[in-house]
Amino acid sequence: CGIVGYIGRRDVAPLLLEGLQRLEYRGYDSAGVVINSPKAAALKMVKAKGRVRDLEARVPKRFAGTTGIAHTRWATHGAPSDINSHPHLDADNKVAVVHNGIVDNAAELRAKLESDGIVFLSETDTEVITHLIARSQATTLEEKVREALKVIEGTYGIAVMHADFPDRIVVARNGSPVVLGIGDKEMFVASDIAALVTHTRQIVTLDDGEMATLKADDFRTYTTTGATTTATPETVEWEA
Ligand code: GLU
Repeated sequence: CGIVGYIGRRDVAPLLLEGLQRLEYRGYDSAGVVINSPKAAALKMVKAKGRVRDLEARVPKRFAGTTGIAHTRWATHGAPSDINSHPHLDADNKVAVVHNGIVDNAAELRAKLESDGIVFLSETDTEVITHLIARSQATTLEEKVREALKVIEGTYGIAVMHADFPDRIVVARNGSPVVLGIGDKEMFVASDIAALVTHTRQIVTLDDGEMATLKADDFRTYTTTGATTTATPETVEWEA
């Protein structure tokens, strides 16, 4: 349903929670957040069925990081629950995915992955994306995500973090909106500009079949087949 992400220098958890609150008007049944810092190789995650304030109540006092992605879920596959909330991580806690949309061939992909010994933690369609990225042998995060998306049928707006690539967030869009917010030494991503406009009015809207890599100091966009695309930020007008 809703996605917010940030990479920069500020304390990320409050920014993400505030962003999620701005997306509450869209409706949702659960929420979650995963964060990292450039020096730490471990992702830290909190999720909760219910409201953003229920999530906030679970966030530990020390929850420091400068990169993170967050989600409000409107369940399509698997009941609303803590476990089915996004982000979805792999067993090694390396890959984190938040996803809007529906993976149409999730049952088939899940059966294939399970027959290879992968244990699923949730009932969601989204979790197949996590495992496909985690088991990819590609050397870059962009390539891992691209390989996963190649076998997925359906709609998605996704944001991906990987503990081995702490300097970036990779996002992709197919049928579910993804917008980038371009800041000064910080980058934002969201499914809806409402979550961004308090921070920046410089917006890049991804097209279907487009991906982006966000780093604190720059971003680039390209197609799911790897061709660079041009993305000139537009200044949006917004009545607060
Ligand atoms: N299909 C996914 C799920 O049920 C994502 C739903 C959404 O867009 O929030 O978990």
